[in-house]
Order: sequence, then structure tokens, then C-alpha cells
Amino acid sequence: MEKQPQEVVLVGAGIMSATLSILLKKIDPNIKISVFEKLDKIGFESSDAFNNAGTGHSAFCELNYTPMGKDGIVNIDKAVGIAKKFETSKEFWSYLVENNYVSSPEKFLRPTPHMSFVWGDEDVNFLKKRYEKLSQHPLFKDMEYSEDISKIKEWAPLIVDGRKGNEKVAATHMNLGTDVNFGELTRQIFKGLQNKKEITLETEHEVKDLTRLSNGKWAIKVKDLKSGTNKAVNADFVFIGAGGGAILLLQKTGIPESKKYGGFPVGGQWLICQNEDVIKKHHAKVYGKAKIGAPPMSVPHLDTRVIDGKQSLLFGPFATFSTKFLKQGSHTDLFKSVNFGNVGFLLNCGLHNIDLTKYLISQVLLSKEKKVESLQEYYPEAKLEDWFEQSAGQRVQVIEEENGKGTLKFGTEIVTSQDGSMSALLGASPGASTSVSAMLDLLKQCFPNLMKNNWDPLIKEMIPSHGEDLGNAELAEASRARTTEVLKIFK
Ligand SMILES: Cc1cc2nc3c(=O)[nH]c(=O)nc-3n(C[C@H](O)[C@H](O)[C@H](O)COP(=O)(O)OP(=O)(O)OC[C@H]3O[C@@H](n4cnc5c(N)ncnc54)[C@H](O)[C@@H]3O)c2cc1C
Repeated sequence: MEKQPQEVVLVGAGIMSATLSILLKKIDPNIKISVFEKLDKIGFESSDAFNNAGTGHSAFCELNYTPMGKDGIVNIDKAVGIAKKFETSKEFWSYLVENNYVSSPEKFLRPTPHMSFVWGDEDVNFLKKRYEKLSQHPLFKDMEYSEDISKIKEWAPLIVDGRKGNEKVAATHMNLGTDVNFGELTRQIFKGLQNKKEITLETEHEVKDLTRLSNGKWAIKVKDLKSGTNKAVNADFVFIGAGGGAILLLQKTGIPESKKYGGFPVGGQWLICQNEDVIKKHHAKVYGKAKIGAPPMSVPHLDTRVIDGKQSLLFGPFATFSTKFLKQGSHTDLFKSVNFGNVGFLLNCGLHNIDLTKYLISQVLLSKEKKVESLQEYYPEAKLEDWFEQSAGQRVQVIEEENGKGTLKFGTEIVTSQDGSMSALLGASPGASTSVSAMLDLLKQCFPNLMKNNWDPLIKEMIPSHGEDLGNAELAEASRARTTEVLKIFK
């Protein structure tokens, strides 16, 4: 029989733990939640604005969510699924605004049109088919498509000006796209929870170990990084929301499920422009097509970002290599994660992903000049001197053992102990945008009966479409009307 948790420990103060804290408090205001964060700031790893791309992933512009089969048919299932999840997130964030957990939606979410842009007959044909299929769906009905250079110039002049030759181009445009500052959102949520005295959150506290006790609880060893002292905290439910650091902690739990996983870190780097004459000409996120062999998260895009009130253009991310699992992690992370149990399937995975290895090596070797040449495919008149390089966050690509072989996973994996008392989130895609659905899935995995019989009505108070299908045109319209108003996503 499932028991509702009373004492909960959340490891890490990123967007995932912030979201789970609110959900748990709604389920039962008496649940005692302790959050431990090793950095001295909240939301400062992957969730921080410059560490991720800030795209509110709603599948408006991400071409890798709509693969085209050999038969020429574009499959939109993944795109529709992600679009629904993002609407769920917007409903949840609207609840946070209405219930004073966050105060200024305009500080974390900005309307930013989402565009896809391609060139050459093959890709134009793909984009047209993608558009024809997606625009039939209620969540994509406002999508526009054009092959007309003057129309595309109206949407995003930088990608058109100076384009030479007469190669065919095409673009789609969705006004309802967003740019999200997930770091700001994380900080606002935790501040709201702390103001209401609903949780305790200790920064500069690193979780070092997790041990299962004979009474079914978990003993969590936490080190106070300022004083150097250790303490033990007991919990009947633990969430490892440590981002890239989750895999190392999961391995420490010793649960059988943890033995099936390994990780491979891929860093990111942006080209950034703060030249006012350039940035004022661009107001969109323009996504292109990934190069052959490139992992899905390396799709290049040229984005308007406004971070802490300052506008910039970001292009990338370019892949980088480091053995760290967290940007603020240690160079020994990768080596610590390899053990007798996983070395076989990790090596096997490497051997079967030669294209990815080649792609990563080619990216690591790119000079700034070469990166600007890639940028010029999107913004032909880009000048080297207007752009500087800055590192993004680290991602740890999950490698899962399946039938003795290692399979590279590009999505998000929730790993849960058999009794549901411990859960970890691995992977980073589509990431923060779908944090609400990810945390709801986690609760469903850990507490299936409680979720179905007791918690669903409470969740529905926060997320009105919960349990219903946002593919329904009327529901989608009503949901968007509300979230657009509350979150101030005005067209
Ligand atoms: C380059 C890049 C681009 C991305 N672009 C997008 C995007 O456009 N849209 C999108 O939705 N998502 C994007 N993502 C993914 C998104 O950033 C992540 O999915 C999300 O931020 C993960 O949140 P989190 O709370 O799990 O992890 P984090 O925000 O990394 O938080 C984990 C926290 O745990 C702490 N921690 C780690 N170990 C310990 C320990 N032992 N003890 C205590 N604390 C610990 C860390 O310090 C950190 O603060 C991108 C990611 C990257 C790297």
C-alpha cells in the first residue's frame, strides 16, 4: 500500500526541484520539504539563462521533432506531444502567478516569434510538408509558411539580407513562440515558497551520499560547504534533481535500476552579439536543420534573448567537450561514473555512434572564424568583430543498457526505485520547458495509486487541462486564451 510522503528531500535547486516543490505542497501543505543546493546561488546551473537556449519548446520551430520517413511522410506525433506539454507548463506557471508564488511573468517569459528557416529543394519540400500537416492541428493553427523572400524579410531581415544566389528558401513563423528565463523562474518560485515558509532551502550544502535504511527511509549525507561539517537527514521520499550531477548520486543509491545507466557529457558554446545596430533588426528564434551526424540538441539557431533586461543575439549552441557533468562540476565526473557494471555497454555505445563522435571532434576543433562561417549560413552579413564566444551549460547524454548494449538517449529519463521512495531525473531534452509534465510523470511513477485516486483533482486545480486532451480545439483555445492573458504573452 502506497503511503503519502511526509518528509521529502530534494537534491538541487534547479527548475525541476522548484516545480516538484509546488506540486507536493499542493498535494499536502504539511509535507516537510528540505532542498539542498551545493552552489551559493539558486537556479545557477543548467536552468540559468545563458546556460540554456531559453526556448519555450513548443515544437513550433524545432525541425528534429518532425522527422520525415523514407516514404516522404512527415511524422508530427512527437511535435504534438511536446506542444501539449508546453501548454501544461504555461497553465502551471499561470497558477503560480495567480497564487502569488511568482510576481513578474514578464521577467521570465517573453513573447518571441518562433521560425524555422531552410534552403535547397529537399529541405524546402520537407518544411512545406511539415507545415501542411502541423497547421491542421489546433495547437499549430496560426502557423504561417512562406517561400517569398520579401515575406521572410518582414519576419527576420537578418537572415535574408546579403543572401547570394537563387537557391530556394522557405520559412515558417509562429507569433505565439516564447523565450523563457528558467533561472529567473526557478528563483522566483523558490523565493515564493520561502516567503510562505513552505520549504527549507540550504545553499552551499552538497549531498554526498544516500543510504537505504532498514525502516524503508533514506539517510542523506549532506556536507555544509562553508563549515565543512556533515549532517545526516532522513526522508521517506528523495528526488535527485541534481541536473548533470544526478547520475553520480543515482549510482550511490545502489538501487538495481541505477545499474543500467551511464552518461556522456556534451558542453555547449554560444556566439553572442551585443551590437545594438544588429540586435535591433532581429526579433525571433530562427531554427535550422541539424547537420548530418549532429545530435538533436545541436540544431543551430539565431535567437533574440533578453536576459536581466539586456538584449543580445545568440547563435549556436556549438558542442564542446569536457569531462565535467556540471558546468561547475569536477573534471573527474566522467571517470567516477564509469564502473565494472557499465563500462561494457558504454564502450559498445561509443562504437555504435561513430558519426556522433566525428561530429563532436569536428565541433571541438572549430575556430571562432569557422563558427562565424556557420553563422553566416543564417545571417549572411554577420561580422566576426560583432560576436564573442561564451560557454553554455553542460548536458549529460544518458546511455542506457538495453539487452547488453548501450543506447544513447536524447530525451529525459525518470529513474525510480521499485518502491517509489526515490526518483532521479536524467537527461536534458526537451528539458525545462516540459518540467511540469516531467514532474507529474515522476509522481505518477512513484505514487500511481495516490495520483489516480487522491491527487488528480488537486493537480487539476493547478492545471485545468490535466487529464484532458489539448488536441481538442475548444480546450486548446480556452487554455491559450487564459495563459496568454495571465502570462502577458500578447501578440
Ligand atoms: C546548452 C543547453 C541548452 C538548453 N536549451 C534549452 C531550451 O532552449 N529550452 C529548454 O526547455 N531546456 C533547455 N535545456 C535544458 C534545461 O536547461 C534543463 O533541462 C533544465 O535546466 C534542468 O533543470 P534541473 O533542475 O534538472 O537541473 P539544474 O538547473 O542543472 O539544477 C540542478 C542543481 O543541482 C545542484 N546539484 C548538483 N549536484 C548536487 C549535489 N550533490 N548536492 C546538492 N546540489 C547539487 C546543481 O548545482 C544545480 O543547481 C538546455 C540545456 C543546455 C545545457
